[in-house]
Amino acid sequence: MTDKIDLRSMNFSELKNLISEMGLPAFRAKQIYQWLHEKGVREFSEMQNLPRALRDKLEETCVLHNCKIDTKLCSKIDDTVKYLYCIAPGEYVECVVMKYKYGYTICISTQLGCKMGCTFCASAIGGFQRHLLPSEMLSEIYTAERDLGIKISHIVLMGTGEPLDNYDNVLRFLELVTDPQGLNISMRHITLSTCGIVPRIYDLADLHLGLTLAVSLHAPNDAIRSQSMPVNRKWQIDEVLKACRYYAKTTSRRISFEYAMIADFNDSDACALELANRLKGLLCHVNLIPVNHVKETAYHQSDKTRLKRFIEILESRGIPVSVRRTLGSDINASCGQLRASKRKEGDLS
Ligand code: SAH
Repeated sequence: MTDKIDLRSMNFSELKNLISEMGLPAFRAKQIYQWLHEKGVREFSEMQNLPRALRDKLEETCVLHNCKIDTKLCSKIDDTVKYLYCIAPGEYVECVVMKYKYGYTICISTQLGCKMGCTFCASAIGGFQRHLLPSEMLSEIYTAERDLGIKISHIVLMGTGEPLDNYDNVLRFLELVTDPQGLNISMRHITLSTCGIVPRIYDLADLHLGLTLAVSLHAPNDAIRSQSMPVNRKWQIDEVLKACRYYAKTTSRRISFEYAMIADFNDSDACALELANRLKGLLCHVNLIPVNHVKETAYHQSDKTRLKRFIEILESRGIPVSVRRTLGSDINASCGQLRASKRKEGDLS
């Protein structure tokens, strides 16, 4: 990595300080910030209202981290587009753009690879490379917007990586992406998904950001959860749910529990009953996800009857349930799979 200044990761007040340290007039900070965030430029040479000497100076001392499109897959079934971006040699990151009635949602990655090791997840394959910088997460969005000629209205942090394991960079990303001088996306349109890093759930609650917290539960008890999610050996379900209760109480926001339905693993009537009991009284809803088949794993989707029965049991006990729509199934759109296959090609060092 370079030791040049990562300009796009700076907030406006940091940029103002930098500009004043450079002995430049304050209005330059505003111009540069607009180029970086409103216009999403990729090169200093695109900052047309800056004097040549200043552009050269920025080029010398600063860096713009940009995603380059390596592969773009467009679904023929719906309008889902999946990108595999290259950030640097051997560094690939995935994101997906989905079209809904209310606008475009982007699913972004927060790390290169992941440390969490969930056994059903393609992102775990090949382990962890590094955290993504705020500027790199922003570039996932700016690059897709520019390529598709669209404006993104909703963001889900559900791509590769564990956002709460890259906490400071993710918080800065959230600050920048919601900035009225930048993309100005409402916190209410942002969902952060975590596998359950308990201390960080408390920290996030205390910030009162107003974003939606999604928690990957995937099991009603510790015996099942620890088998597929190693993180559960550190923070068990009771602790995760206690933190969720705190989050819901502190923020008045409903928690979304993700539950991947895996045949003969976590989809029995007994599992549904146990889940309903544990979630009783918590401001939440359960989002059932037909598990995506990942070649490297032995997991299979529950059948439709099982899914229906599971929903009935939860709903009859007052737990709101939704089933995640499968978008882009013809392009392997669930995150991690494209990156994993790129690794297989031996393209990663
Ligand atoms: N690390 C975060 C966000 C990344 S994954 C987290 O764990 O929540 C986003 C969601 O996809 C998580 O709920 C994750 O458990 C789920 N997921 C991973 N692999 C999946 C698969 N093969 N099928 C269905 N959902 C999967």
